[in-house]
Amino acid sequence: MPSQPDAFRYIRAKIDQLLTVMGTLPLRPEELDDNTLIELDPIGIVAESFSQVIAHLNHTNHALNLATAEIRTIFDNLGAAIVVLDFDDHVVDCNNQALTWLFHGADRAQVIGQLANQVCDEADSLKSIRRQADGAMQTVNLHGHAVQVVASRILDEAGHHARTVMLFSDITQQQQNELHLQLYAEIFRHVGEGILITDADSCIVEVNAAVSRITGYAREELIGATPAILRSGLHDAGYYREMWRTLRENGFWQGEVLDRTRDGRILPLLQTISEVRGADGPTSHYISVMTDISALKETQSRLDFLAHHDALTGLPNRLLFSDRLRHAIERARREGFGAALLFIDLDRFKHVNDSLGHQVGDQLLIEAAHRLKSLVRQADTVARLGGDEFVVLLEEGAAHAAAANLAEKIIEACKRPFTVSGIDLHIGCSIGITVYPEDGIDDVTLLRNADAAMYRAKDAGRDCHVRHSAELSRVARARIVLDSALRAAVRDGGFELHYQPIVDIGRGRVVACEALLRWPSGPADARMPGAFIALAEETRQIVPLGEWALREALACLRAWREHGLGLDYVSVNISAVQLAQPDFPARVVALLGESGLAGGSLQIELTENTLLHDIERCAQVLTRLREHGVRVAIDDFGTGYSSLAYLKQLPIDNLKIDRSFVRDIPDDPNDCAIAAAVIGLARTLGLEAVAEGIETRAQQDYLAQIGCKLVQGYLHARPLPARAFAAEVATLHAALADRASEAQTGREGRPF
Ligand code: C2E
Ligand code: MG
Ligand code: MG
Repeated sequence: MPSQPDAFRYIRAKIDQLLTVMGTLPLRPEELDDNTLIELDPIGIVAESFSQVIAHLNHTNHALNLATAEIRTIFDNLGAAIVVLDFDDHVVDCNNQALTWLFHGADRAQVIGQLANQVCDEADSLKSIRRQADGAMQTVNLHGHAVQVVASRILDEAGHHARTVMLFSDITQQQQNELHLQLYAEIFRHVGEGILITDADSCIVEVNAAVSRITGYAREELIGATPAILRSGLHDAGYYREMWRTLRENGFWQGEVLDRTRDGRILPLLQTISEVRGADGPTSHYISVMTDISALKETQSRLDFLAHHDALTGLPNRLLFSDRLRHAIERARREGFGAALLFIDLDRFKHVNDSLGHQVGDQLLIEAAHRLKSLVRQADTVARLGGDEFVVLLEEGAAHAAAANLAEKIIEACKRPFTVSGIDLHIGCSIGITVYPEDGIDDVTLLRNADAAMYRAKDAGRDCHVRHSAELSRVARARIVLDSALRAAVRDGGFELHYQPIVDIGRGRVVACEALLRWPSGPADARMPGAFIALAEETRQIVPLGEWALREALACLRAWREHGLGLDYVSVNISAVQLAQPDFPARVVALLGESGLAGGSLQIELTENTLLHDIERCAQVLTRLREHGVRVAIDDFGTGYSSLAYLKQLPIDNLKIDRSFVRDIPDDPNDCAIAAAVIGLARTLGLEAVAEGIETRAQQDYLAQIGCKLVQGYLHARPLPARAFAAEVATLHAALADRASEAQTGREGRPF
C-alpha cells in the first residue's frame, strides 16, 4: 500500500494524466466509460469520483449534441437564407433556404467549400454585401423579391476577419403589408364616413377626422370616452339592447341612429358596427362606420312633402287630403264627431288665366290659398285639388252649421279684389258642401257630392254656397256622361255646322252667313251649342272642335262659290279658349291656305269678354289676322263688360247687336235707343253693324229706318245645314227681289 502522501501524489499525477489525455484525447467524452477508467486508473482509487466526472461530461456532451442538432434544425428550416463565407469567399456553410434562393437548389455538399462566385447565381450581390458586412441592414433585389440582408463579420482570436455570416430575409410580403397599412391609414384619414373604433369594453380608441367633422367633438375628447357621449336620448334602452343582441349574434349591425352633436343638434346617422375578433379569439374591437344622412333625410322629407303637397301653394294635395278625409270619417264613425267638406271653385279664374297668363293665374291662386288658410282653424285642412279647386275639411260637432258659416266667410273674402301685378282682379267663388254621414259615408262620395253641389252653386249665380242634395248627384253624373259623349263626338266627327244668312236689306241680298254648331247625334237636350259649348270650353275640347268648325265652314263657302253662290264671307264663332292658344293666328292662316280662300272670306266672331281680358295680346292676334285680310266681328255687342275704348285699339270690322236689344224693338224705347246708339257708333267708327235675332218685319223696318243695313234672324231663315242653306238662299233672293220691286212701286213704302 503506498503511503498517504504517495497516494495523493499518485492521484494528482493520474488526474493530470487524465486531463492531458482528455485534452488531447481523440476519444470523445461519450466514449469514456468505466472500463477506460479502469485502464487509466489501475488502482481504481479515483474511479468513483472520476466516474462521476465522466457521467457529468457525458451528460454535458449529450446536451451539447442536442443543442447543436436543435440549432442545425432551426438553421435549416429558417424562412431566411443564411450563408457563411470564409475570408476568401469560400462557402463555409449555408442553410436549406440559401440553397434554394442562391445556389440553384444544389445539395449542400456541392456548395460547401466552393468559391461563392462559382456556385452562387447572385455572386455579385454576395460580394458587395460581404464588403459592407458591418451588421447594418440593406435591402437588395433577389429574383424580383425585396430581400433584407444583414451581414456580420466573425473575427478569429487574433481579431482578424475570418468569416462573414449573411442573413437574407424576404420582406416582399412585409413591404406589401406595410403598403396596405399605409393605404388603410390614408383611407381612414380622408374617407367621408366617420370611423370610430372602440376596444372590447366600448372605450373609444381611435376616430378619424370625419367623426370630428360630423359630431363636432375633437379627437382628444372622444378617445377614452364611450360612444354614449353621442347619445341623443331619443332611443330607448330596448333599441340599444336589440343593437347589441344583433351585434353579438351576427358580428354586425346596421341601422339609423339619432345621435347628438357636441352643440346639441340631433343628427341622423346611418351606422354600421362590426365586431373585430382574432382567429377564434374574443372580440378585440368594434368598428363603427357612420354616415351623416341629414341631407338625405331632408331630401326625403322634401320629396315626401312634394308628394303630398301642392307645389304652387304649399297646401296639402288631393292625396294627403283624401288621407285626412278618411281619418276624419273614421274618427267621426268611432267617436260620433262631425265632419264636413267644402268644395271651393274660384269663379272667373279661367278668364284670368287665359287672358292675363299663367303667372298672374299662379299668383292669384297663391293669394287665394292664403286667404283660405287664414279663415280656418289649425285643426282644419285646406287643400288644393288642382286648377282653381280648393277643399276644406272641418272636423267639428255641428258640422253643417260650421261649414255654412265658414262658407259665408270664404265667399266674402273672395269677393275682395285680389291685387296681382298691380291689377285688381275680381273673381269670387262658388262652394259646395257635404256633411258626413248624410251626404256620403266614404271619402269618394263626399268629395264627388261636394263637387256636384259646387256646380249647383255656380249655376245659382256664383258667389254662394250650396249643400249637396240627391238631385245634385244626378246633375254631376250627367255632366260626366255628357263630357265623355262630347269627347267621342269631337274625335269621331259627330258635329255639323248650320248656316244662317246675313242679309243686306238695302241691296236685298244674302251677303254672308254665320256658321253655328250642331250636335245631331248628341243627347236630345244637348244638340244646340248652348248645352255643350261651356263644357267644351271647360274641358278644352273646344280647341279641336273649333278648328274643325273653321275648316268645315271654309270648305262650304268654297263649294258654294263654285256653285255660283257668291257670298262675301262666312262668319265663325271663336271661343276665348281658342283665342288664347299661342298658335291660333298661325292655325287660322294655315286653314285659309288649305281652303284656297282669301282672308277676307272669313270673319271671326268674338265676344267682348273674350277681348277684354288681355287686350294687348288680342290686339296682336287680331292685327296678325287682319294682315291676312281676316274680318273681325264683336258678337253679342252690348252684353259684355262694354268698354268702348277697345273699339279704337282693335282692328274690328263689325258689331253684332245682341238679340236681347232687338227682341223688344220697336216697343221698348230703351232697346230702340240702345240699337240706335250702337248703329250710330258703328257708323262713326266706320264699322258695319249686324242686328241679330230679327224675327219680325216690324223689328227689321225699325232697324232699317235707324240706318241698320245688315240683319240676321228667323225672319229670313233659321240656321240650316249646308245644302238646305244653299237652296234657301236662292229662295230668299227671289223673295227679296220681289219685295224690292214691291217697294219700288211704292205700294208698301218699305225699303224693299
Ligand atoms: P251667337 O253667335 O250669338 O249666335 C246666334 C244665336 O242666335 C244662334 O243660336 C242662332 O240660332 C240664334 N238666332 C239667330 N236668329 C234668331 C232669331 O231670330 N231668334 C232667336 N230666338 N234666335 C236666333 P245657337 O245656334 O243656339 O248658338 C248659340 C251660341 O252658341 C252662339 O251665339 C255662339 O255664341 C255659340 N256658338 C255657336 N256655334 C259656335 C261655334 O262654332 N263656336 C263657338 N265658340 N261658339 C258657337
Ligand atoms: Mg255668333
Ligand atoms: Mg250673337
